[in-house]
Amino acid sequence: MRKTLIAGNWKMNKTPKEAIEYIQLIKNQVDREDVEVVLCPPYLVLQLAVEETRGTHIKIGAQNMYYEDKGAYTGEISPMMLKEIGVDYIIIGHSERRSIFKETNEMVNRKLLKAIEHQLTPIVCVGESLKQRQEKVTIDYIRMQIKIAFKGVSEAEAKKTIVAYEPLWAIGTGKYASKEQAEEVCGAIRKLIADLYNDDVSQQVRILYGGSVTSKNANDFFTQKNIDGGIIGGSSINEDFISLVNYGH
Ligand code: PEP
Repeated sequence: MRKTLIAGNWKMNKTPKEAIEYIQLIKNQVDREDVEVVLCPPYLVLQLAVEETRGTHIKIGAQNMYYEDKGAYTGEISPMMLKEIGVDYIIIGHSERRSIFKETNEMVNRKLLKAIEHQLTPIVCVGESLKQRQEKVTIDYIRMQIKIAFKGVSEAEAKKTIVAYEPLWAIGTGKYASKEQAEEVCGAIRKLIADLYNDDVSQQVRILYGGSVTSKNANDFFTQKNIDGGIIGGSSINEDFISLVNYGH
C-alpha cells in the first residue's frame, strides 16, 4: 500500500513571521496519520518550520538544493545543511527551476543522486508544456526526463524516490488536468519505472499530480489508481490547504 503524500510548495511566499503564524493556524488541522503531509517553505523558514511542527506528523521539505556538499557556490544551499536542521524531503527539478533558473535534466540527475546520498527523500518533478501536449509528445518527453533523472539510481533507492507529474500548463494557471489526463500520464510513468527497473519498484514508487489542485478537485485526483497524492502550490499557502488535506472527509 502506497501512503498518500501531499506536499505544499510555498514557492517564494511568506516571511518567517507569516510562516509561523500560518503553521500555528493549520498544523493541528492537517495532521492526518493516514496522509504524509510535507510543507516546503522558503529556505529562511525551514528551521522554524521544523521546530514548529515537532510532535506532529507533518514533515518539512526544501524546494531546491545544490548538488555539491560545500564549497565556492555563492548563494547555494547543500543537502548536508538541510539534513542537519531536520529537513526530510527535497523537491528536485520543479518546472520553475527548469524554466526560470535553467536547470537541465543532467542537473536534476546530479541533484537526485546527491539527495539520495544524504538520505533526503526526493520529489522529482516532470511535465510537458502545452505545445508538447498539443503535439502529442507528452509521454515521450516525460520518458526522456525520467530516464535521465534516474541514471545511476539503484533499485533500492528508486523505490523510495517520489515522482511528481506537473504539466506546465496547469501550474499556477487555475487550469488543471482532468483526472483522466493525470491518471493516464501517472500510469505511463509507473509503466516506465517498471521498464527501467521492475514491477516491484514501480508498485512502490509514489507518483503525485501537481497543477492547480485545490480542495475542490483534490479528491478526484487522489483517488485515481496511479496517483498517490499531489504537489500543491497556490492552495498550500492559505486555509484551503486544511480542506484539501482532509479530502474525502
Ligand atoms: C507547484 O508549484 O508545484 C504547483 C503545482 O502549483 P499550483 O498548485 O499553484 O498550480
